[in-house]
Amino acid sequence: MHATQTLPENYRELCTIDLEKNKKQYAIVNSLSMVVAAVALLVIWLLAPEGARPFQGVPGLLVLLAGMFVYILLHEAVHGVCFWYFSRQKPHFGWKSAFAYAASDCYYRKGPYLVIALAPVVLWGVVLAVLAALLPAECYWTVQLIQLINLSGAAGDLYVTWLFLRMPEDIWVIDAGVNMRVYVPAEE
Ligand SMILES: [Zn+2]
Repeated sequence: MHATQTLPENYRELCTIDLEKNKKQYAIVNSLSMVVAAVALLVIWLLAPEGARPFQGVPGLLVLLAGMFVYILLHEAVHGVCFWYFSRQKPHFGWKSAFAYAASDCYYRKGPYLVIALAPVVLWGVVLAVLAALLPAECYWTVQLIQLINLSGAAGDLYVTWLFLRMPEDIWVIDAGVNMRVYVPAEE
């Protein structure tokens, strides 16, 4: 079973992850996001083909902003589809402070939850990399700056993945968007 609507009996709360209210976790995600953005920017700049220009006036900036906005919706949509795939229950979407999020009322096993967490950054990362390689040089920076948002914006997803990889296999996770509660079997 990948997901359940009711937490099985004999499970106790192990921890809560709160990327908004927990100051340490918030700081880790923000620092990780900045480091990823800096490294991505360097790589994008080094890989730039001849004729690619980062600044293409106001129209170029508007296309970039629109692209970033659409990207955020598509990122959360992939989390949502994955929640639905494993639980067959409708996910929720929302905005909280600066974050867009997808959430679910169900409890998920560790494996499915890792798929839910990583699916957007992996899927859109591949799509954007292919676009950057195939589209003309004028589109290079627009696509790659959206890729930068894809990678740095996934800092929360990556941090959560790292935390979950170190947790026991038999956990259940419920994800309210920016905070997650984790349950483990209670000892007798
Ligand atoms: Zn995400």
